[in-house]
Order: sequence, then C-alpha cells, then structure tokens
Amino acid sequence: MGPGPCTPYPEAMEALGRPIMGHLDPEFLSIFDETRDRLRTVFGTANRVTIPVPGTGSAGMEAAFVNILNPGDTVVIAVNGMFGERMCDLAHRCDANVIPVNFEWGTPIDPAVVSIAAYEAGAKMIAAVHAETSTGVLNDIAALGAAKGDSLLLADCVTSIGGMVLDLDAWGVDIAYGGTQKCLGVPPGLAPLTMTEAAWEQRVVKPRSWYFDLGVIGGHTPHAALAYHHTAPIAMIASLHAGLGAVLDEGLDNCVARHATCGRALQDGLIGLGLELWVKEEDRLAQLTTVRVPDGVDSGALRRELLSRYGIEIGAGVKEWSSKIWRIGCMGHAARLRNVALLLSALDELL
Ligand SMILES: *Cc1c(COP(=O)(O)O)cnc(C)c1O
Repeated sequence: MGPGPCTPYPEAMEALGRPIMGHLDPEFLSIFDETRDRLRTVFGTANRVTIPVPGTGSAGMEAAFVNILNPGDTVVIAVNGMFGERMCDLAHRCDANVIPVNFEWGTPIDPAVVSIAAYEAGAKMIAAVHAETSTGVLNDIAALGAAKGDSLLLADCVTSIGGMVLDLDAWGVDIAYGGTQKCLGVPPGLAPLTMTEAAWEQRVVKPRSWYFDLGVIGGHTPHAALAYHHTAPIAMIASLHAGLGAVLDEGLDNCVARHATCGRALQDGLIGLGLELWVKEEDRLAQLTTVRVPDGVDSGALRRELLSRYGIEIGAGVKEWSSKIWRIGCMGHAARLRNVALLLSALDELL
C-alpha cells in the first residue's frame, strides 16, 4: 500500500508465467493489438498511435518529451510535485526552452495561470501531471485542455490510469503516458503511451533517442506492418493484456468506484484515528493519500513495524516531507476494503 508498485492482479501474474512466443508470432501480434485496444479504452481515446512503450512510467515520460521537443522549442510545465520537476529535467535534456510554473506542493495547479503562461510564450507544448503521486494532489487536466490554445497538451497519467476515469479525447489531451504498476495492477515494466494525429504531425523528425523514436519503434501501424525494431517484452505485454482484461471484466467504472471507495474509507479512517491529511478534501486523490506524521512519532520506525509485524508497506514523503508525511496507496489489486481495515487497525495499535 505504498505509492507503487501495487500488488498486481492475479491474472497479470499468471500471464507472466506463460510460454514465451516470438515477437512476430501471429498470436503475439493479436495479443499486442488487443492490448492497444484495451489501452484506448482506459485512456478514453481513439488515437491510432497508442502503444505500450518498454520501460517503466518514466520511459513514457522520456518518449513523450524526446518525440515532441526540438532544441529551442518552448514548453510550459506545471510543477506542484516531484514528477512535474522530473518533466522539467527531461525538457532541459531536450535543450528546450523550459518555462516552469510552480505551485506550492500539496496544492493543485491553477490551469488559468498555466495556460496564460503558455499563451504569452507561444509554447509548443503544455505539460502537467494528472495525479501527483509525490503529494496526493489531483490536477485538473480537462480545464488545461479547454484553455490550451494552439499548444499541444501533455498529461502524465501514471497514477491515474486504471484508477480514475480518463477521457483524453474529450479533455483535449494530445500526448499522455501511464505506468503499469500503479492503478493498472500490473508489474512495473511498460509505459502505455498515446498521442493525437496533431501531436504526431508535430513530432521531432529524428529524436535524440533511438530506442524511443516513435517513428520507428513500431506499433503505431496495424500489426501486419510491424517490423523488428527491438525485441518486444513479450511476458510484460502478456501481463498488461491480462491485467487490462481483469480491469475491463470488472468494468472500468466499477474498478474506478472501488478505488474511490477504498480511498474514502482510508481517509475517513485516518481522520477517525485523529490524524491530519495533508491535502484539502476537494483536491485529494483516492488512490494515494498523504497523511501527516503526528508529533513525537518516528515515521521510519512505524513504517518498519508495519512491514515486519503486518506485512504492509506504506511510503515516506519526498524531499523535505520525507519524515513529515506518509504516502498510502490504494492501487490496483491492493485497493480492497479488507486491506484498508487491516491497515487502519494496525496503525491504531502501533500509534
Ligand atoms: C511513478 C510515477 C512516475 C514514474 O514512473 P516509474 O514507473 O517510477 O518510472 C511518473 N509520474 C508519476 C505521476 C508517477 O506516479
């Protein structure tokens, strides 16, 4: 119950143990195509260019940036946590003209301020994190989409995909990436990525990364045209296919509702224990809760006891909040009321 990786769905683990097919085997190609269709469903998009990029969520971030930003291109990045900062780092490595718009950690971004900055700078792209896992804050991507003007909009959906309704096409998102080990309930190792035709047309002709060059990586065309670029991570794609199957069998809306119910029960329970949540109620994520460590409690000692006595992992804060907050995840297969109940009673006893 940390900030990821979550406990994967049993279906995703079972799929890892299946025989390994060749990456051009027709059966594998049909699993690959079906995985892309399932990803379109959870992303809420009809984008042709929708693929699982090899690597963890950060690989999706890197692929998105190196394929859109040429040296000198202007990008406005909304920053209210660690992953917004990571985006700035990546954009600098692309030699882009980076304009960070900073907001206090633990509070959401203001889409109006970000979009005005983008308008004034004539930015090629606006980038923001949908669910900031470092703070537990939800950012309003739809409002950014409504105000993006001529800029492309990139959204980090690593902690929202599979745990919240994503409606990228309606929101006006041009590029988005996710990760498998947060709310999708699959082991770490792939980064689902999607982009609109508008983003595709403005992509970098020859990105500085060979591995993440979306123009040659394959998977943006029907599978008949898929040629060898790299060896596809067969077992991980089978696992993602199965994890998405579990989510869609449950029903995406039911799965999202389960994350919401567990998050709410956890947050109510923590308040009931006399603890203080970091984020205001209206800005809180259900799948990642940040709670203040009470005065006089050794944050690390409590986390070690939780792990050794109860087998429950929760996360520490990042940066100056490392021993001031805990980060508790209700993600994927771990988002169950029985886990919430066990954690709350364990916390009650240890505190
Ligand atoms: C976890 C996370 C990432 C990075 O993903 P990795 O799988 O750790 O590479 C990026 N953005 C957000 C919002 C995340 O939660």
